[in-house]
Amino acid sequence: AIDVRGLHKRFGRHEVLKSVDLTVRSGEVVAVMGPSGAGKTTLMRCLNLLEEPDAGTITVHGRTVDCTSPRRTRHRSRVIRDIRTRTAMVFQNYNLFPHLTVLENVIEAPISVRRLPRSYAVEIGDRLLGRLGLTDKRDEYPSRLSGGQLQRVAIARALAMDPEVILFDEPVSALDLELGAEILHIMKNLTARGITMVIVTHEIAFAREVADRVVFMDAGYILEEQHPSVFFSNPATPRARSFLRLVS
Ligand code: ATP
Repeated sequence: AIDVRGLHKRFGRHEVLKSVDLTVRSGEVVAVMGPSGAGKTTLMRCLNLLEEPDAGTITVHGRTVDCTSPRRTRHRSRVIRDIRTRTAMVFQNYNLFPHLTVLENVIEAPISVRRLPRSYAVEIGDRLLGRLGLTDKRDEYPSRLSGGQLQRVAIARALAMDPEVILFDEPVSALDLELGAEILHIMKNLTARGITMVIVTHEIAFAREVADRVVFMDAGYILEEQHPSVFFSNPATPRARSFLRLVS
């Protein structure tokens, strides 16, 4: 579903991604782990072109963007828009609109991007809020919600776009154990639906439960990719070994 080749990204003189290659199959769940500053969030932002890479190619569901020679053609803009429409993001700060209610947050993109009629978007939104246990919060504003509830609204909003890929940045770290378990349950449900997921997480237990593969990054490189059972018990690189000693 996702294929990234030779991805480079710099901020000024700081090269944050130094030739990243990554393939994620359709329906696969990949956990991206690594120390702070490794480039995990930047990689996620590049995957749906929120961040413009300096070199490399990104292919999502057969649509390729060549970042090495970014000629700003109409075709290129269309491909980028297409990738963004199929790739939902759930980020640390949730990015909810503070002046919109929970339901309005969920139906905003389906109406403005997918161009669904409002009544149909509301129907989808209500169904998703029900599934995520948020029906009683439907008409609240984000400022009146807890961290776990905000997280679930962000997931509902992502799902409302009927995405093929969901990118999660730290879905559980801000939550207490019980809510973490709830999000884990929701995400397991998503895996059962065959949605491709890339998840940045520091939570070993979480990665072990949901991921088909752990991708370990450090200083702008992917150092290893392993099945969680292998990565957590027997990482191949000294860097991953010392990282795991610190976080576990
Ligand atoms: P964390 O686990 O702490 O979230 P990370 O692995 O996600 O870290 P990134 O957020 O991708 O790391 O950041 C990688 C590096 O790029 C950091 O050194 C960061 O300061 C730098 N960086 C990220 N975004 C920008 C930006 N917009 N402008 C300048 N530097 C940036």
